[in-house]
Amino acid sequence: MINLSAKQVEHLNSLKKVSEFPSNFKTPTLNSKVGYKVRNTTGGVCLFAKEIIIKNEVICFGNSSMIDKPIIYSYQIEENIHLIGPGGLDHNCQNPNCRIESGTNNFVAIRTIEKDEFLTFNYLTTEFNINNSFLCNCGEERCFKNIRGFKYLNDNDKAYICNNFYMSDFLKKKYSDFSKSV
Ligand SMILES: [Zn+2]
Repeated sequence: MINLSAKQVEHLNSLKKVSEFPSNFKTPTLNSKVGYKVRNTTGGVCLFAKEIIIKNEVICFGNSSMIDKPIIYSYQIEENIHLIGPGGLDHNCQNPNCRIESGTNNFVAIRTIEKDEFLTFNYLTTEFNINNSFLCNCGEERCFKNIRGFKYLNDNDKAYICNNFYMSDFLKKKYSDFSKSV
């Protein structure tokens, strides 16, 4: 477990990809069928399928360093534990093609992913309180708009996520505690 100072959080967030992280941070192992493309707009990267990926195939293993605070590149697995993600896995409100896997914290394919498809998951299925909130413009009917974390969703949206998405073990537990309290 690596405890991060606010300054370190800021530094890691300023990097364009996880391969630029200092060597004491272990980044996750990726499926060899997955690659990065550079975004023209920001110079950051996004993840895509270099060849067809089948349903439930592992995209990225949950074998990276644990950190105590969320960063742009992390996903949450426990109250104060976050894993460094692959980076470039974009948020998708309605039709993500990847999900977190219960028990392993791997990311796996929800369905067959075609060659050249970009890889996405719904950030609200892992993040309680997102490090860098943003406005989603996906245009889907059920867009969650202000993506700040599961914590900030209204009761309807919490239930909707719970009933329609694969959530992390952490958020499932958090949600059942929340349901008991109302
Ligand atoms: Zn959206």
